[in-house]
Amino acid sequence: MPFADLGLSDELLQAVTDAGYSEPTPIQAAAIPSVLMMRDLIGIAQTGTGKTAAFVLPMIDILAHGRSRARMPRSLILEPTRELAAQVAENFEKYGAGHKLSMALLIGGVSMGDQIKALEKGVDVLIATPGRLMDLFQRGNILLTGCSMLVIDEADRMLDMGFIPDIEEICTKLPKQRQTLLFSATMPPPIKKLADKFLDNPKTIEVARPASTNINITQWVVPVPAQSFEKRKRLRQLLGQDEVRTAIIFCNRKTTVRELNKSLKQHGFRSGEIHGDMEQPQRLAELDLFKRGDINILVASDVAARGLDIKGVSHVFNFDAPWHPDDYVHRIGRTGRGGATGVAFTFVAPDDAENIENIEKLTGQSIARLELPAVEEEPRRGRRDRPRRASSDEAVADAAEPVAPRRERSAPREQAPRDRAPREQALQERAPREQDRPVRSRRDDRSYARDRDDGPDIGWNGPIPAFLHATIPL
Ligand code: AMP
Repeated sequence: MPFADLGLSDELLQAVTDAGYSEPTPIQAAAIPSVLMMRDLIGIAQTGTGKTAAFVLPMIDILAHGRSRARMPRSLILEPTRELAAQVAENFEKYGAGHKLSMALLIGGVSMGDQIKALEKGVDVLIATPGRLMDLFQRGNILLTGCSMLVIDEADRMLDMGFIPDIEEICTKLPKQRQTLLFSATMPPPIKKLADKFLDNPKTIEVARPASTNINITQWVVPVPAQSFEKRKRLRQLLGQDEVRTAIIFCNRKTTVRELNKSLKQHGFRSGEIHGDMEQPQRLAELDLFKRGDINILVASDVAARGLDIKGVSHVFNFDAPWHPDDYVHRIGRTGRGGATGVAFTFVAPDDAENIENIEKLTGQSIARLELPAVEEEPRRGRRDRPRRASSDEAVADAAEPVAPRRERSAPREQAPRDRAPREQALQERAPREQDRPVRSRRDDRSYARDRDDGPDIGWNGPIPAFLHATIPL
């Protein structure tokens, strides 16, 4: 189906042509006509499916008529993280160039004063994370009674981060007569309940099986010893493969992100880091380096990297197997985007066997094992002979004990995907140490999320990067 059949205005058809899209993605084809007809909608879709444009495009056309009033946004988009909120704002800028809509971004890490000023002027589109929105609401800076359109994006992630009570409260502040769109990669019972309570006769669109993984991504589970230095050694082995052009490496903890990035740099890799302890400008600066190719490896934590749309990531590494299976789907979804192919390696230490089982259960696929050949200890480089900005290939070639990670060179032993014996054994070894696992109850979800990744909102009074300007005329 061509874009022209979806009911969008000529300006928007021009905008999608300018964006280089030849036809709508399945979620766009199914969602856009319904949204334009003002229906409530549940979109079960992962990032990477084009779901952002599925709501941004019709919203622009709907909001093109009408005027904004001070402190009364006309529409609200809730996003779980600052980065996702900023990305949605970028989408409005991209597709809304031909419209005169105003937009405000309410996210932590950006000066509240500017955000309040933007609200005072009146905005057509308010994009917010629930925490910052609630703060401003409680200070009396926002009235949601004029908000006739609500988008709850990445709802399952909101649940993971403990935002559902905030979202419920926000929903009660909006007028009952409104259009509500909810997007989620999966529909766990609390999200289903939320949808039942706040959506009116929604149309449900499912573009991919919940939590399914992209067929363009080749996935490997790599058994590794538990010790960090051993894992780092295996990682360098794989990073040395010449087909690793750009990589995002996920760790479960902020401290691991920092340590790993430091270690990679010491080994001459061009790497950077992104995690919740960093202030917003730092995160954006690091992302920019990665997007521009000044660094080709980004070590990341889940919350900071959620939903990032960075083109051309060739590899994803799970340095730590994710604790939650849906994080796996989101992490590896950073590669294999827009029809490109990608590779995802997940390190699995003996204690991680259960996590991998849960992932395989969720995705309905078993992941092939890749046994790496044993590596000799690499001598650490002294400070003086450390390369400054060597490429990863150079770095490995430079090492006194170069490893032979390329599959064609060293043909690692692949185990049959169905071979569960090592996992069972690992599970048995693991059982008495159950208390080591991070235990998370729904009650302390928020503190868990903050502690684990998305640090407290730190007010930032410096210059606002171009696309984060509090109000951007579209
Ligand atoms: P999203 O699922 O919203 O994160 O979008 C993933 C990527 O798909 C983004 O890079 C979009 O620019 C791109 N995209 C969105 N719609 C289309 C389309 N109709 N054709 C090709 N790419 C698209």
